[in-house]
Amino acid sequence: MTKKILLRDDEMPTSWYNVCPDIPGGLQPPLDPETMQPMAPEKLAAIFPMGLLEQEMSPDREIPIPEEVMEIYKIWRPAPLVRARKLEEALGTKARIFFKNEGVSPVGSHKPNSAVPQAFFNRREGIQRIATETGAGQWGSALSMATSMFGLKCKVYMVRVSFDQKPYRKSIMQTFGAEIVASPSPYTNYGRSVLERDPDSNGSLGIAISEALEDAVTTEHTNYALGSVLNHVILHQTIIGLEAKKQMELAGEYPDVIVGCCGGGSNFAGLAVPFVPDYLDGKKIRFVGVEPASCPTMTEGKLAYDSGDTGGMTPLLHMHTLGHDFMPPGIHAGGLRYHGMAPIVSALVRENIVTPLNVHQMECFEAGILFAKTEGIIPAPETCHAVRGAIIEATRDLNEPKTILFNLSGHGLIDMAAYDSYFAGELHNYSLPREEIAESLKNLPKTS
Ligand SMILES: *Cc1c(COP(=O)(O)O)cnc(C)c1O
Repeated sequence: MTKKILLRDDEMPTSWYNVCPDIPGGLQPPLDPETMQPMAPEKLAAIFPMGLLEQEMSPDREIPIPEEVMEIYKIWRPAPLVRARKLEEALGTKARIFFKNEGVSPVGSHKPNSAVPQAFFNRREGIQRIATETGAGQWGSALSMATSMFGLKCKVYMVRVSFDQKPYRKSIMQTFGAEIVASPSPYTNYGRSVLERDPDSNGSLGIAISEALEDAVTTEHTNYALGSVLNHVILHQTIIGLEAKKQMELAGEYPDVIVGCCGGGSNFAGLAVPFVPDYLDGKKIRFVGVEPASCPTMTEGKLAYDSGDTGGMTPLLHMHTLGHDFMPPGIHAGGLRYHGMAPIVSALVRENIVTPLNVHQMECFEAGILFAKTEGIIPAPETCHAVRGAIIEATRDLNEPKTILFNLSGHGLIDMAAYDSYFAGELHNYSLPREEIAESLKNLPKTS
């Protein structure tokens, strides 16, 4: 077999897959934080285009990919499916390890899979400007690229700790013409209120979301965009799993185990959910979602209604959460520092379809470095969690000839400061004290 499997143009998926109608037990609707009743779509239309809201609530399993989006996808898609033979050899395992390389996108991660359609649907409905947040900077980079392609303006609220740790992300966003500020910022009421209480705040995704939302609500012709968590984001990301399914078939393989790292859950779900119908038809597949031990949303959080942001402005989502006030430690996998998990992934955990796993930062960097030495690709710090998860699965029983598929959500070439800290011995493991989680869970909104 060749090392790398691609797809011809006529083999490319033409629709995304919407898993929502197939989830056993279904999804709980988002609630309006003011009334605690299911959110009226008209209210959401103040910040999202109808095209995306229809996808968010669609009962259809297949949703066509617009021609204009496909044209841009083809700049880097299909993403290669690769067999990691050298990694297998180094581990001494009989498992066959495949990975889907989303690091080949122009900004180096899976995020443009959703940024491009989000920019497209906003543009189609006459929006001129988008406000968003970014954690590690990957979403901001992806949306900056996508908005520049569709002639939209973009303002990015970037979590302070990443803003300081990752200066080149800023340069990338600037190259695409976006405006970037560190969050908490002095430019929104919410940002000012946080700075008043804590002038040295590290920031968090929850705070940055509040700022971007406030910007979108108070500025004309401006919408808001979210890079993970929501149903329509996961819908767009299914291009990963739909391609992978065809590529695995071309390789004459079918995965026994599917692994991905989870921040808000979009890259993992994007790879995994296209395989869920087969699972429901009786196929044995183990879905493993890997999260950091320092931000253990699925493994230690609670499944409940909570805000997506710190300011309590978003609809309440039914999801695994550590509480919207949760302040994650400043670990280097910035993209995995979010208090909540996508409702789709949370429901799959609830149904025992997805198995959550938490891992420590040090073992992840070790895994990432072994992967780099064997396969030549330096994974993003977030992605190192998926690599670690795949290695755990492959070494559980070295003699079991199972097939593992994991998502290489991005490369780490712009994150070398994180590797520097690791090499300098500055990183350590961080487990969250139970009391701290219990404390932030006290502030969950009361829904009844
Ligand atoms: C953003 C990001 C993640 C985490 O986000 P998900 O929505 O969980 O996918 C993981 N890996 C990379 C490379 C990212 O940029």
